[in-house]
Amino acid sequence: MSKFLVLNPNPEDLESVLAKANLQNSKNGPFEAVLLLGNPSNSNDWKAPTIDITQPTYVASDSTELSDIKENFHRLNSTSCLKILTLKCGFTIGYLTSHVIDVALHNEILTNKHLPSVDILVTYHWPEAISSSQKLSLVGNSFIDSVVKVARPRYHFAVGSERGRFFETDSFSWKDEPNHSSTRFISLGQNGSGDKWFYAFALNEIDSMENVKGVNFFEQQPMKQLENDSTPSQSLKRPATEELDRPVAKKVQPSQCFFCLSNPKCETHMIISVGQNCYMTIAKGPLTRPGGGRGGNTAPLDFSGHAIIIPIEHIPSIRSISTSVMDTPLYQEIIKYQDSLIATFSQKAPDYRLVFFEINKLSNVHQHTQFLPVPLHAIGSFEDVLEEKTKMNNEKFVRNQSLTFQKFTNPADERLVSILNGSDHIIFTVSGERKTYYVAKLVDDKPVDLQFPRRVLASILRSPKRVYWEKCRQSKEQEVNDCETFKRFYQEGKLE
Ligand SMILES: [Zn+2]
Repeated sequence: MSKFLVLNPNPEDLESVLAKANLQNSKNGPFEAVLLLGNPSNSNDWKAPTIDITQPTYVASDSTELSDIKENFHRLNSTSCLKILTLKCGFTIGYLTSHVIDVALHNEILTNKHLPSVDILVTYHWPEAISSSQKLSLVGNSFIDSVVKVARPRYHFAVGSERGRFFETDSFSWKDEPNHSSTRFISLGQNGSGDKWFYAFALNEIDSMENVKGVNFFEQQPMKQLENDSTPSQSLKRPATEELDRPVAKKVQPSQCFFCLSNPKCETHMIISVGQNCYMTIAKGPLTRPGGGRGGNTAPLDFSGHAIIIPIEHIPSIRSISTSVMDTPLYQEIIKYQDSLIATFSQKAPDYRLVFFEINKLSNVHQHTQFLPVPLHAIGSFEDVLEEKTKMNNEKFVRNQSLTFQKFTNPADERLVSILNGSDHIIFTVSGERKTYYVAKLVDDKPVDLQFPRRVLASILRSPKRVYWEKCRQSKEQEVNDCETFKRFYQEGKLE
């Protein structure tokens, strides 16, 4: 039997976490390996620990620098593909620790499935099958699903986000090897977050399949299929119990929802304005930066301008409260916010257009519309870039749902109204002499590239490295400044 300890340290507190690991090793070890989750060694001011480490310890990293940092302390460098480490005891650890996954590499690896199975898998992201079952789409990545399905780890550890989150599944088996292999998924919160941040376990040569009774998230039928599947011949094939055993996806409650004002962790320092039915906040990890937008004769803005309009009510979509979206006070207030922003910008920063964008899905956690300013000299490329990114999505990343954008300039156009009222969709609204709408219906069960709108805008703004919000995080001080500056800009604009 081999023992393991898995920790999600706060990078600022690494020394004390390692001291705790030493203590645990002497009390409950020895551990074959101590695994540190997250990417604690990524930050620029990261320093190698000074404490003596008594057991082999591995830290995940995007960095390709030196792997063996000191005795018993090693970096696991894997920027793009699954790497395998074989421990002295013979058990294998697969790791894919980068928190930015390259979709092109993703597809390349999928078509080349020579991944061996591993005992322990460490990734940054959760598999999408599990994140979507928990309505936590931001922490998941579908690439991890493919890795898990092939690598069949006995234990899979992830964090999903910088602060992480504790979540554990029961062990579940795989249909084609029901008596031989099982997987258990565990995500840990960060040390100091209040969530469970450590996990100890033991591995035997052979899996005991005794307590393996969890649901395999990767082999479940999509819920949608069940709902639509009402023909008697097909329902008869499926025993009724299977449907009953299926776990109902756990709903994210307002108290845990990023977008709910009632969430005790709600970041009030980011709120720009609160209305009757919705409110406006600056974006976390904004695509545009204060002082950006230079080029041509455009005067830079002294705030990012990337912000979000959010319904106060915890609803996945306006469609979940009305089938006549445009008649709701909520929709009208969102449009009012849009119009007052457009008016403020055209008065105070006329070198910019605003682009509003939204992925509207009934399966979302909480509806929201993002927007950001785009310099006039860049907005001209909007349609070309949208076309290029759509083509790439449809032809290169065929696992993604295919998109077809329609353009409208009349908000009352029946075809537009019918999509807004009746379908999941992606919509861009671009300000100008009049608003232009670009809408793609979401029609099938294939995954939607949730970065798509941001990918388009990052390309227009020539900021390809800013596609992922997690890579663009600001300090709290920057957020406060950014929010206060935006507030002044917006409120003065309204008063004048
Ligand atoms: Zn909410």
